[in-house]
Amino acid sequence: MLIVGHGTRSAAGVAQFAALVDRIRRRRAVDDVEGGFIELSRPPLTDAVGALAGRGHRRLVALPLVLAAAGHGKGDIPAALAREKQRFPGLRYAYGRPLGPHPLLHDTLADRIDAALAGADRAGTWVALIGRGSTDPDANAEVTKVARLLWEGRGYAGVEPGFVSLAEPSVPAVLERLRRLGARRIVVAPYFLFAGVLPDRIVARSAEFAAAHPDLDVRVADLIGDCDALADLVLQRHAEALRGDIRMNCDTCAYRVAMPGFADKVGRPQTPHDHPDDPVGGHHHHHHGDAHGHHHHAHEAGLRPGQVAVVGGGPGPDDLITVRGRALLEAADVVVADRLAPRGLLARLRPGVQVIDAAKVPRGPSMTQDAINEALVAHARAGRRVVRLKGGDPYVFGRGHEEVQACAAAGVETVVVPGVSSAVAAPALAGVPVTHRGVAHEFTVVSGHLPPGHPGSLVDWAALGRARGTLVLLMAVDTIAKIAAVLVEHGRAPETPVLAVQDAGHPTQRTLAARLDEIGALAAREDVGPPAVFVVGPVTALT
Ligand code: SAH
Repeated sequence: MLIVGHGTRSAAGVAQFAALVDRIRRRRAVDDVEGGFIELSRPPLTDAVGALAGRGHRRLVALPLVLAAAGHGKGDIPAALAREKQRFPGLRYAYGRPLGPHPLLHDTLADRIDAALAGADRAGTWVALIGRGSTDPDANAEVTKVARLLWEGRGYAGVEPGFVSLAEPSVPAVLERLRRLGARRIVVAPYFLFAGVLPDRIVARSAEFAAAHPDLDVRVADLIGDCDALADLVLQRHAEALRGDIRMNCDTCAYRVAMPGFADKVGRPQTPHDHPDDPVGGHHHHHHGDAHGHHHHAHEAGLRPGQVAVVGGGPGPDDLITVRGRALLEAADVVVADRLAPRGLLARLRPGVQVIDAAKVPRGPSMTQDAINEALVAHARAGRRVVRLKGGDPYVFGRGHEEVQACAAAGVETVVVPGVSSAVAAPALAGVPVTHRGVAHEFTVVSGHLPPGHPGSLVDWAALGRARGTLVLLMAVDTIAKIAAVLVEHGRAPETPVLAVQDAGHPTQRTLAARLDEIGALAAREDVGPPAVFVVGPVTALT
């Protein structure tokens, strides 16, 4: 369990965090527990991850210690975790959901309010529940929801939400509202886990209001703090994350749903913004949206000006691109398209979109790739939304990662959208499953662009000859005869059935079936040409 806090300037807040981590550790309910902060406080997150990794852990449950999902939960912590994944190869984590709302929290808040009341009755008491406040309307709505849940059935005269920062009503505004409603006794309940600059400010604002209204009884309740209920809740979120249950309130997430005044956030990654009252003045030292910095909740679907999306277009037909790929294509200002990309989509781009045809010749000069990289970088730097549209999946013999690296080297952010690879799609479109129960329990995708025996080859053809699973050969039109011979030489039966699938998914799609020892000659005689895949193995006889 990796408990992730934001960090605070308050020593008391850091001590409370550490005490909670200790309390959870002492429960011995999970294998190992560490806690760390993404800024301001020690230990930094990377030390906590390092400690867990040092004890041999590679699979973590990362729990954001936040009451509601806002910038920290949706953006900063996932970005920090993404950096840790790069730092510790092989690290995997499940990400837990925010702590609130939860009955354990509401009961704890009621306990804190009762302690402040010291015997005074709930019926004559109004509660001002004060949240942190956020530029994310959903986070503010969560505090409002908790205010309602806290009121429900507990007998307070009323519970009103307010915010100490960034959102209205402010602490004095909500106190004034309660005064006008006729409140005589008010308990200000900070909806905060631990001590910090902002909880201190709640106390100060409340004291100012009380001083200005000596006829009112204004009290401030304690924070939630390190306690058994909080430990119970963290352990519950841990169990949920392990089960893959990370329900979040996405239906009212401003990054997904257009809301008045927030429509510009839809589809965009969470971005750093100034916290005017933050002791460090903002979050500009974070790097959001770097090549690997996207958490699923950071909504990769958006494409910002200056970004490059490397999009897998699928095997060719216009409707075998992913929904996300299609959406990014529609957002593009510039599209750099490969020959094997779904060409039909290019005709349906918005007017004015610049299309660069990178129609690459097989085994063309490497300068072509350099020129593509340069074009991607240049257009991104000019502030355009760039889509690099490729055939199949960008990372399957697509040189997609070279382009991502070139962009990263130039400081250009990238987004990668996987695609349906022809390695699987071409057989499927010809009716061939690459695996089938009782027939093939593995399939291997191999590039045939270099023939067996070529000094530059990285393929163990002898091993592939001995193996029994399905072989899918890409870029093998010119080399299929030599490949087939080597496979037979190393143990594949000469009568192994092979299927060539050319132009898969297109009206011109054709297939050619042959024995392994005859496919070379037959493909040449029948003029099988690119793009084609060769599928080797008994699955091809299942059609
Ligand atoms: N990234 C691509 C592969 C690029 S390499 C992908 O994931 O699909 C190019 C090779 O892909 C071609 O030589 C051919 O073997 C295969 N290919 C791509 N589209 C194809 C299609 N529509 N039909 C058959 N083979 C195809």
